[in-house]
Amino acid sequence: MTHTDPREVLNLIDGKWRPARSGETLTRENPANKASVVATCPASAAEDVDAAVEAARRAFPGWAATSVEDRIAVIRRALDLLTERSEEIVVADVLESGKTRADCAGEVARALSATKYQLDIAPDLLDSRGVLDSGLEAWSQLAPVGVAALITPWNYPFSAVLRKSIPALVAGNSVVVKPSELTPITGELVGAALVDAGLPAGIYNLVYGTGAAAGQRLVDHPDVNAISFTGSTRVGLAVAEATGGRDVKVQVEMGGKNPLVVLADADLDAAVDAAMHASYTAAGQWCIATSRIIVEEPVFDEFRERFLARTREVRVGDGFDEGVHMGPVSSRVQYEKVLSFFEPDKLSGTVLIGGGPAPDAPDGYFIAPTVIERPDHDSPVTQQEIFGPVVSLFGAADLDEAISLANGTPYGLCAAIFTQDREKAVKFAHAVDVGRVGVNMPTSVGDQQVPGGGRKNSGRGEYEGADAGIAFFTHLKPIFFKP
Ligand code: NAD
Repeated sequence: MTHTDPREVLNLIDGKWRPARSGETLTRENPANKASVVATCPASAAEDVDAAVEAARRAFPGWAATSVEDRIAVIRRALDLLTERSEEIVVADVLESGKTRADCAGEVARALSATKYQLDIAPDLLDSRGVLDSGLEAWSQLAPVGVAALITPWNYPFSAVLRKSIPALVAGNSVVVKPSELTPITGELVGAALVDAGLPAGIYNLVYGTGAAAGQRLVDHPDVNAISFTGSTRVGLAVAEATGGRDVKVQVEMGGKNPLVVLADADLDAAVDAAMHASYTAAGQWCIATSRIIVEEPVFDEFRERFLARTREVRVGDGFDEGVHMGPVSSRVQYEKVLSFFEPDKLSGTVLIGGGPAPDAPDGYFIAPTVIERPDHDSPVTQQEIFGPVVSLFGAADLDEAISLANGTPYGLCAAIFTQDREKAVKFAHAVDVGRVGVNMPTSVGDQQVPGGGRKNSGRGEYEGADAGIAFFTHLKPIFFKP
């Protein structure tokens, strides 16, 4: 695959690769080089989505009746193929997401490892038997729910598709995946590996298209039993609302405005490292990014100077180029959205560095790493997820004020604190209203053995990943035997 070789991605419906019935396509430009097209994908409409859901519905009973061991065997074969094809996936990821090669390689390796972990724990989780005190033999089966609709974002496109697909499949569901229209190739590579591994037709279906057409039809489809959505808070809340009252399981993972708190006794070198990593990876376009840094006043100036010095060293450019730390934002829409935060009606505080397009960058959607000092509490810069390389610095008189600032947005995805004082760290961890907390770790901390999700406007429903990620795609069905 090269910059001048656009890939024609197709839907996968009932085991066959097909264009949209209308023949219409969407074009994905390279965010690092506007002159080149990375891929085209079908602009699917309701009729394509309906065909995929019908295929999944027909295939479901056979797959649900397949033993867990046999399901795992097919998925392991697909995992082996994905591992063999990792380099192709990494290249596709860099081209379509704009992230650096190192970031994409990390994404692919972590996603494959987390999938292997879920396959390892699946047999015990899905099928536990025992004898109760009453003498009855009980079999607590986690039964598949049916057809699962999986809607994913563009920022970590391979891991998002895998993180939803594998738990759904191993639990015995059939799926219809709607990857982001901005990142079609990685989803297709997952589908191709499952087909090549021998997954029966109709179990894994892929439908591409816009959120408004293909995504919305999936959400509204009456024959879907579970929806797992990851994306923006705006769309996620609408998905949760649209499904309210229907007999469908819903899991919605949304945006964040994640605080990193640095207390006066913190190891400042480690805190700056954590801030750099979480603020600028993926050009700030990851849900677990640090976007607010709250520093106890006695070390505010020193932290600011160290963080600024490191920010000045960030090299912006094409994710394929050696030595580049940060690529472009994902699209023209995202570029214009991030720049809009620098307009006078939205901006407050002092821009210490950045605040506009990256100078000397290639002809793509590159934004300069940006640090804003002490914006107003109520300003859009403080309250809204920007999803770009933009970080705000705030001062706090003490831990209590830091907790209050940390909790002061509508989001609740993750938070972190740097301090040597264990008691203060524990107080913060209990008081901050988020889905996960890092102590002396970046906001982006996570582990394949621990599920993840958000509070407030960052999440609805059960968490993703590890055992909870599999359990979401099931319902508990205890079966009692009298021996
Ligand atoms: P987005 O909400 O624009 O799109 C996400 C997906 O939803 C895409 O596939 C899109 O086509 C689809 N979609 C859009 N409108 C829809 C509709 N009306 N009905 C159904 N589907 C629809 O988000 P994005 O820009 O692709 O991703 C960035 C967002 O994702 C950020 O807010 C980020 O924080 C969030 N995110 C969250 C997590 C998490 O785990 N919490 C992880 C990654 C990204």
